[in-house]
Amino acid sequence: MDKRVERKKLDLTSRYQALTEDLQWTTSYQPMDKVFPYARFEGIRVHDWSQWHDPFKMTLDVWWRQQSDKERRVYAVLDAFAQNNGQIGISDARYINAVKLMLQTFAPLKYALHRALAHSARNLPGNALRTATQLQATQLLRHSQNTMHAASVYNKYFNGMHETPRWYEQAWYLAPVKSFADDAASAGPFELLVAISFGFESLLSDTLFVPLMSAAAHNGDLSMAPAGFSSQSDAARHKQAGITTVKFLLQQDSSNIDTVQHWVDKWFWRSFRLMPMVAMLQDYMVPKRVGSWRESWDTYVEAPVEALFAELAQYGLKKPAGWQAACAAKDHLSHQAWNAFYGYGDALAFHTWVPGNDELEWLDRKYPNTFDRWYRPRLAYYAQRETAGQRFHNHSLPMQCQVCQQPMMFTEPGDGRWIAYRETHHHDESFHFCSDQCETIFTNEPEKYVQAKLPSHAILQARKNLPTDDALQASIADLGVVIGRDNGEFNGSEDDTNFTEWGGGQDMKEAQL
Ligand code: ZN
Repeated sequence: MDKRVERKKLDLTSRYQALTEDLQWTTSYQPMDKVFPYARFEGIRVHDWSQWHDPFKMTLDVWWRQQSDKERRVYAVLDAFAQNNGQIGISDARYINAVKLMLQTFAPLKYALHRALAHSARNLPGNALRTATQLQATQLLRHSQNTMHAASVYNKYFNGMHETPRWYEQAWYLAPVKSFADDAASAGPFELLVAISFGFESLLSDTLFVPLMSAAAHNGDLSMAPAGFSSQSDAARHKQAGITTVKFLLQQDSSNIDTVQHWVDKWFWRSFRLMPMVAMLQDYMVPKRVGSWRESWDTYVEAPVEALFAELAQYGLKKPAGWQAACAAKDHLSHQAWNAFYGYGDALAFHTWVPGNDELEWLDRKYPNTFDRWYRPRLAYYAQRETAGQRFHNHSLPMQCQVCQQPMMFTEPGDGRWIAYRETHHHDESFHFCSDQCETIFTNEPEKYVQAKLPSHAILQARKNLPTDDALQASIADLGVVIGRDNGEFNGSEDDTNFTEWGGGQDMKEAQL
């Protein structure tokens, strides 16, 4: 009888080595510089690519197995939710606007970043980092699809979800998200990694996943919650890979330190300028609340980032330049964002409202230093106007920051009274910014940011003859948004009345009794 041949099994490290670094070869038909044309132009010096190791030692075959397991689990839950009419069991139809905003911002953002990362992966000369970046790109594509599929069940029953990819490309209030992705995608491969894997994923993405997905579950959204948790386990890996990459670049050559610091400063701030939407989702758009944005910031950002940079100090990296300003904004951000969006309620593709009395009390308890003084009086005024049948509308066109493209809605750090406003001249033209940080980003690369297409300017140019608020509304109506049905006041909207008619939210109420 033949003796069975025992196949020698490689240990994890050798297997990882064989399936990543060992696949590297030096090209002979073409010089390596031509095969990797973007490897040098950012000035980053790498002497030994074999020093970069994926902290999770992920290889392609293991990765496929894990991802397909996750997919099977997520889609089993999504199917069950749809078949059991799960949309009736959510806490309150206002919650659906949180789903709409996620669908308009984070699903397309992840899609755009997957493309950018795939491009970066192609252009990185190190095989292990290239493999990890390629896997990350594909995961972002999966997350984008999961979010869209999780939201699709609601699209059958609620308004305002029908053309989200187009809105992401063209709606004025989604410009900050699109401009963030475009800026990252037009950077070199190393800057992109520092921007996305480190600046966005390592420093800020936990504020997005963890509290929002708990909030989704808490509000009976058993469609978005499992999709979010499925992404979270990948995001944890991206986060570690981002930190490993930054350490690797800093260790490879001391001349990399200044460049990496510059990117960390820039991309922390650009990522932070996506946070107003996350903050208002958490504090205003989720009817049953698990915690405030400020609490999330303290737990998921402030404490871990302080600890991370204490560790990175030995590599020569300092905390991002905008760190203090970002921490000072934690008491204001959600309120300023909701105030701006409420005022422009007819120019969005979701509904806005004034929170109920118990919600105002909650906000006061969570923001004892700022809410009563600066923000509650405005909301009281809006409520009064609404009761009198004269809902408040902001009739001006929003002025947008040349870099982050957010409306100028932020106040000076530590002072709730004055809107922060900065102005710079470049080649006889004036440019306006929401903060010192955005102004610095511009002055470091003016030739990049003078090209930014600001929606407010485009709207003014296209509709010179209309009053400004009509122009803003017309711009959103051109994108297929039905004014008054897909946006405006939530109370009395079609979403509101339908949900009540269907007996929606009863499960939640019974569970509370
Ligand atoms: Zn800005």
